[in-house]
Amino acid sequence: MTSDSFFEKPKNGEPWDVAIIGSGPAGLTAAIYTTRGARSTIVFGGTAWGGQLMLTSEVDNFPGFPEGILGPDLMNNMRKQAERFGTEIRNQDIESVDFSASPFVIHVNNEQVLAKTIIVATGAATKWLGIPGEDKLRGRGVSSCAPCDAPFFKNKKVIVAGGGDSAMEEALVLSKYASEVTIVHRRDAFRASAAMQQKVLSNKAIKILYNTEIIELFGEQKLEKAKLKSTEKGEWEMPIDGLFVAIGHIPQTAIFSKTLTVNEIGYLVRNSQDGYETATNIPGVFTSGDVHDHHYRQAVTAAGFGAMSALDALRFLDMEKEN
Ligand SMILES: Cc1cc2nc3c(=O)[nH]c(=O)nc-3n(C[C@H](O)[C@H](O)[C@H](O)COP(=O)(O)OP(=O)(O)OC[C@H]3O[C@@H](n4cnc5c(N)ncnc54)[C@H](O)[C@@H]3O)c2cc1C
Repeated sequence: MTSDSFFEKPKNGEPWDVAIIGSGPAGLTAAIYTTRGARSTIVFGGTAWGGQLMLTSEVDNFPGFPEGILGPDLMNNMRKQAERFGTEIRNQDIESVDFSASPFVIHVNNEQVLAKTIIVATGAATKWLGIPGEDKLRGRGVSSCAPCDAPFFKNKKVIVAGGGDSAMEEALVLSKYASEVTIVHRRDAFRASAAMQQKVLSNKAIKILYNTEIIELFGEQKLEKAKLKSTEKGEWEMPIDGLFVAIGHIPQTAIFSKTLTVNEIGYLVRNSQDGYETATNIPGVFTSGDVHDHHYRQAVTAAGFGAMSALDALRFLDMEKEN
């Protein structure tokens, strides 16, 4: 028990009040709320603890940091805040959950951990291009979030990779800041909706390269140029300051999708009922952040959902106690 915590941790074999799966902004915010709500809380943070913001440098749109903050620093702060109130955080990936048991049984590293409620906050992973130079330059010109990073590219040259609605949205956001926006798409037509395509095609600041692939990125401290390849022109290099990869996300739901309801693209479905806005189809199991939110995908919205799911779990536990 830390000096600021309000509960005793469960002894061997006893269930935790709340188990949170995922340690991004959603999971750690949920933990701050459930521990301050005097409920014993364990976070399975994953081997890649901290989530997507660990992959970026400057975060300029999270409230409370007027000069911005580095993504990993923000996540370290959230972790410390959750630990201050007694959250136990394990950097482990859970393997499965038995949702039919009561309490729920979490399987992790040959151990079984019991929990009365579960908050799933496993996020969604960006699909990257997987080309040489991309990993090294992530957060140094390579991004996957125009609403997050577009203002850093004022009067700069950027490429957007992709051909769906997300790529169109990223290009439109970037066109407000960048001097040149080029959408690079490997096919001969976009798969984006007609309305989104029309907006892009009528935007004079956006150029389009069809039948073109980005095959390599170059730069030391920051992105400097991309090598492109097209059926028509062969290979050539283009000086650029930014690359926005918009070829999709993979919601981290594979281990739950047999039991928890997911939509056609694999995101958890919120089953809001009885005032529980973050409920899933299983009573006592809640969802939080990018794992269900395909639309907003922001740290602050994930944190907001974290607070909502925690308040739902706290109320669920209180109601159980009364019954
Ligand atoms: C490069 C980049 C830059 C970004 N910049 C910004 C920005 O400037 N501002 C902004 O608002 N947003 C930004 N975003 C978006 C923001 O990071 C996400 O919206 C936010 O992190 C979502 O939070 P989350 O908690 O829902 O999920 P995530 O951050 O994805 O965290 C999910 C967590 O779940 C864990 N996990 C997954 N599976 C398991 C498992 N089986 N067991 C245990 N743990 C598991 C993962 O390890 C991870 O820790 C950026 C995203 C990227 C990729």
